[in-house]
Order: sequence, then C-alpha cells, then structure tokens
Amino acid sequence: MRKREQPVRIENLPAAFVDAQQVLQVIEQHGYEAYFVGGSVRDTLLHLPIHDVDLATSAYPAEVKQLFARTIDTGIEHGTVTVRYHRHSFEITTFRTESGYQDYRRPDRVTFVRSLQADLMRRDFTVNALAMRENGEVIDLFHGLFDLQAHIIRAVGDPDHRFQEDALRMMRSVRFGSQLDFTIEPVTLAAIQTNRALLAKIAIERIHVEFVKMLLGRAPLRGLQQMLTTHLLDYLPVLNQSVKQLTEVVNRPLAQRLANETQVWSWLAVNLGWEAPQIQSTLHAWKSSKQLTGAVTNVTAAIHALLEQHVTNWQLYQTGATSLTDAAQVVVALGHPDQTAALQQRYQELPIHSKHDLAINGKQLIQAGIKPGPALGNLLNSLEHQVVAGTIANETTQLLAAAKQQSEANKAW
Ligand code: ATP
Ligand code: MG
Repeated sequence: MRKREQPVRIENLPAAFVDAQQVLQVIEQHGYEAYFVGGSVRDTLLHLPIHDVDLATSAYPAEVKQLFARTIDTGIEHGTVTVRYHRHSFEITTFRTESGYQDYRRPDRVTFVRSLQADLMRRDFTVNALAMRENGEVIDLFHGLFDLQAHIIRAVGDPDHRFQEDALRMMRSVRFGSQLDFTIEPVTLAAIQTNRALLAKIAIERIHVEFVKMLLGRAPLRGLQQMLTTHLLDYLPVLNQSVKQLTEVVNRPLAQRLANETQVWSWLAVNLGWEAPQIQSTLHAWKSSKQLTGAVTNVTAAIHALLEQHVTNWQLYQTGATSLTDAAQVVVALGHPDQTAALQQRYQELPIHSKHDLAINGKQLIQAGIKPGPALGNLLNSLEHQVVAGTIANETTQLLAAAKQQSEANKAW
C-alpha cells in the first residue's frame, strides 16, 4: 500500500467548473460517481486558462439520460452524452476501457466500466490522468501531481505498449512537451524512438492536429528538435524531405510564439523556401482546407515583401488586414522589428479595401456605352488598380471619364 498522502484540493474553482458542479452533484445524488477529468484538471493545477471541461461518470449513458430532462446523444457509442443544464451544455462520458487496437490506431471497441481507475488507466499521460471531485479534491492514481510539479510528460503504464496501442500518442508526447514546456521522461522518449515507424499507420488529419499544436506551444523548437532526434519527423509528409534544413531551423531563435495555424505554416514556408506551388502541394498532402492554403500562400508572399522592405499599396490591398497582421507577426518571430502598427495604418489609409468600395461598377459602365465582355472586366480591374495606387480618385464621374478614355484608347489599338 502506498502511504496515504494529504489530498490536494483546488480552492476557488474557475467559473467553467462552477457551472458543472451541480451536474456532478445530481449524478452523485443518484448513487453514481462523477468527476472532472483530463486537460481541464491539468490546466487548472498549472494556473492555465481552460477551454473545455470534460466530465466522467460511473453511470452508463442510458442512466445519465434518465437523470436529466434534456440530453443529446453526442457520441453515445463511445459513452458521451451532452447534458443541457441551466442553459449550459456539458459533455459527460461514461468510464470506459478500450480494446481491439487494430493496426496501432484508435480502439474499435469500448467497454463501459464502473471503475474510475480503469478509465484513468487508458489515458495517455500521467498529467492527463488526473480526476477532480466536484468539491475540488484531486484524485491522483498515477503520480500525475508529481509529474505536473516536475514538468514531466510520462506515459501511463508501459510506454512501448501504449504507443503500440495508439501510435498517435507519440505525437501527443511531443505536443504536450512543447505546449506545456515539459520534458519527456527518458523511458517514454526512448519508446518514441523505438516505435516511430508505427506513425505511418496514423491518419494525417490526426497527426496534423498534434503537429500544429506542438508548433503553437511554448517550446516549439525543442518539440521540432525531438521530432528530428526520435525520427518521428521521417513520417511527416513533405517535411521528411527537409530534414537538413529543419535541423538548421531549430538552431535559429524564435523571437516570439506563433499565434495561429496560418502563422505556423507560413513560418515553415519561409524557413524552407517554399514558393506558392510547394505551399499548395504540402498543405494538400496534409489535408488542409482551401481556406488555410489560401491564407498561407497570401501571408507567405507578404512576409517576403516585408523582408525585402518593399510592400506596395496593391500588395497591402490584396493581402488584407488579417493576413497583414499574421505576416508582420511571423516577421517578428523571425527576429525582425515589429511593423504591425505601421502596416495597419497604411492599410487603413488605402482609398478602398475591396472591389465593392469602388465608386463604379460594371452596370454603370454598360449604361455609359461600354460593351459587356472580358474587356469590361479588364477595365474594371485596371480602375481598381489605379484607385488603390492613388493615381485616380475613387469618384464616379472621374472613374467614368477615365473608363471611356481608356476604352477608346484600347479600341484604337
Ligand atoms: P487540450 O488542452 O489540447 O484540449 P486535453 O488534455 O484536453 O488537452 P484532448 O486531446 O482534448 O487533450 O483529450 C482529452 C483527454 O482524453 C486527455 O487529457 C487524455 O486524458 C485523453 N486522451 C485523448 N487522446 C488520447 C489518446 N490518444 N490516448 C489516450 N488518452 C487520450
Ligand atoms: Mg481537450
């Protein structure tokens, strides 16, 4: 038997927990166990902001549904029920064990159980396997509190076995190491090196999430370094062709943290010298959205212009306010002075910010006698360019006069 230690109890729970406390109380009043689990408990102990509060219970999904008037079967086959309570929603998951890890991926069978210990045992790392009672008392069955204080990421149980069950956990080790600025415990780290090839079994979408969270973390360069030394990186599409360059990247300082996924990929694109086609093929291989791909292409072009210290009004206009900020922030991360405010000022001063702001449209040009067709489109584009460049005022009569003159000139050709 372990020596019984004084239980740790969190006083003054953050507001997100306070709302859920009553839900846990209702479940307990009916004779079941119910706890806060996972990331929210970890982050509260670390005094970090929490996003989602996960609840776990010994009640089976059908039993949970009987206790509350309004429930939604969010992921009922995995044991998750959403409870609507006092205008808030809470995800409650029945304690479960997982089995049938075929092909080193997610389990294909979950078994509901009544034991908290069994549920915590299936979790990936000791710091993620903490539970907390409704009154703030922390349940620590795997020395998660010790690891939390020592800033250590350690697999629950035998890391080899855990990585063979679900190879994504190797990526998650490095992700949490960077996100929390924790060290990966040596046996866990060695198991990543041993089992790295299993990462090939994991869907790129799941790898993608962890990789981006890793680079958004507090210690992204160390995370990247660990991906290189463990050779996990060999299993990342496209990036595995840039091992030499990435080895140099991890030795260059990152002057500030990257703030969003667009900045992450743009920072990589600049460091690895990717042009637009490479950005597109890489993000395609990583199954990214068209929207993200467009933003990264746009931001990367703006970063190059900023580094060359030559940003035209047309580039400002085309880049747009959000992407300009992302580009300026990546430039700061690369170790250059912050130009964000000056760029936003220049952007605000542009005569127009979109085609809709143009004081003339196609219909008005047709009414003025210009024939519809591609030439008209080109004429509008040309007017847009001239207004943005400041060579013509954004004023209907002036634009009409210029349009007629330019249309005549084109005919003369
Ligand atoms: P975040 O702040 O990124 O949301 P989190 O700890 O909540 O961190 P999630 O990925 O949301 O991480 O997972 C919630 C919890 O579920 C984890 O804390 C962990 O206990 C468990 N978990 C998630 N994925 C796995 C996995 N692949 N293997 C084992 N346990 C996992
Ligand atoms: Mg979470």
